[in-house]
Amino acid sequence: MSIASTPGVDKNATSVFSQISTMDHEQVVFCFDQPTGLKAIIAIHNTILGPALGGTRFWNYSSEQEALRDALRLSRGMTYKASITGLHLGGGKAVIIGDARKDKSEALFRRYGQFVNSLNGRYITAEDVGTTSADMEWIGRETRFVTGLPEYLGGGGDPSPFTAYGVYLGMKAAAKEAYGSDNLSGKKVMVQGVGHVGEYLVEHLHKEGAIIYVTDIYEDRMQAVSSRFNVITVSPEEVFNVSVDIYAPCALGGTLNDETIPRLRCQIVAGAANNQLEDETEHGQMLMDSGILYAPDFVINAGGLINVASEWEGYSRERSMAQCERIYDRTLEIFRLAKSKNIPTAKAAQLLAEERIRKIAAIHARR
Ligand code: NAD
Repeated sequence: MSIASTPGVDKNATSVFSQISTMDHEQVVFCFDQPTGLKAIIAIHNTILGPALGGTRFWNYSSEQEALRDALRLSRGMTYKASITGLHLGGGKAVIIGDARKDKSEALFRRYGQFVNSLNGRYITAEDVGTTSADMEWIGRETRFVTGLPEYLGGGGDPSPFTAYGVYLGMKAAAKEAYGSDNLSGKKVMVQGVGHVGEYLVEHLHKEGAIIYVTDIYEDRMQAVSSRFNVITVSPEEVFNVSVDIYAPCALGGTLNDETIPRLRCQIVAGAANNQLEDETEHGQMLMDSGILYAPDFVINAGGLINVASEWEGYSRERSMAQCERIYDRTLEIFRLAKSKNIPTAKAAQLLAEERIRKIAAIHARR
C-alpha cells in the first residue's frame, strides 16, 4: 500500500474509476437498498495507520458524481487528519444521498449499518453534516463499528464541542502567527455556517470578546445563535463583502476557490469545514500569494475525530480534551515548517501527515 503524494483531483473525471484512481483509494463501496431508499457511498482511502474512521454525511447532492467526489476527497482528508493528529487510524468517509430534513428513517440507517458491518471493521463510522448521535444509535443496532454514540450508551456524544474547541485553538495559533498575540478580543470573525460546530465556536469567541459575524442558509439557525450571543447576522451572499480579521468556514467545503479568494477581505482563514480549498495545491498557493494565513482544515478541525477515536479505544473526556489542546502547538509547528520551506501551509501539513504514514508503512514492510 502507498499514499500518493497529494495529487490534484481531476474535477472533470466522470467515470467512477477515473475519479477513484486520482486519489489512490483502497476501496470504494456503493450501497443501495430500494425499500428504504438508501443510496450510500463508503470510501476507504488508507488503512496503513489503522481502521478507516470517518463520519457519514447526509446531503442532497445535485449528482451522483458530486457525491462520489465528496466521499473521495473527504476520506483522503481523514487520512491526513488522523495521521497529523497522531491517531492510530486510517482515513475513510461515507455519504448518504438524500435530504437530511426529509429522508431519514430508522430502517434506512439500520440498513446502512448492515453495509458498514459487512466491511468487518475496515471502516468505522461516526456523525457528520446531516447526521446525529441518534442516527448513530440506529446504525449501532446493526454494527459495532460505529462511534459518536450518545453518552447513555457509553459513547462520547456529539463530537462538535471538541471540534469547535480545536478550531478555536487553531484560530488563536493563527492569530499568534499573524498578529504576534493570540488574543482574539476585538478581532472581527466571520463564522460561515452556525450548525453544530459553528455555534460552539461562537460561544468560545463570545467568551473571548471577539466581534462576531454569523451567516447561515437557514434563518432559524441564525436566529438561534443571535438569541444566545451578541452577533451580527449577514446573509449568505454577503459573506465575502464584509471586511473581517478572520474568516471561519464552518459550513461545507470548497469555499476557497478562484472566485472567492480574490474577494476575501481578511488576514486569516481558520474554520471547521472539511476540504475548504477547492483545489488544495492551486488554492493553497493563491492564499499564500495573497498574504492570507491559512490554518489547514484537517489540522485544526481534528477535535471531533479525537473524541470519537477515544470512544473507540475506551472513552475518556479528559484524554480527548488534552489531545485537543495540542492542536495549538501543532498549528504553530506547521506555520514554522511552511515558512522555512516557503510553501503553503496546507502543503506543509500534508507533508507531515504523509511522512508519518510512509514511516509506519516502512516498519510494516520490514516485519
Ligand atoms: P452542521 O450541518 O451542523 O452545520 C453546518 C451549517 O452550515 C448548517 O447550519 C447549514 O445550514 C450551514 N450552511 C450550509 N451551507 C451554507 C452556506 N453556503 N452558507 C452558510 N451556511 C451554510 O455541520 P457541523 O457538524 O457543524 O459541521 C460543519 C463543518 O465542519 C462541516 O464541513 C463538517 O464536515 C466539518 N466538521 C465537523 C465536525 C464535527 O465534529 N461536527 C468535525 C470535523 C469537521
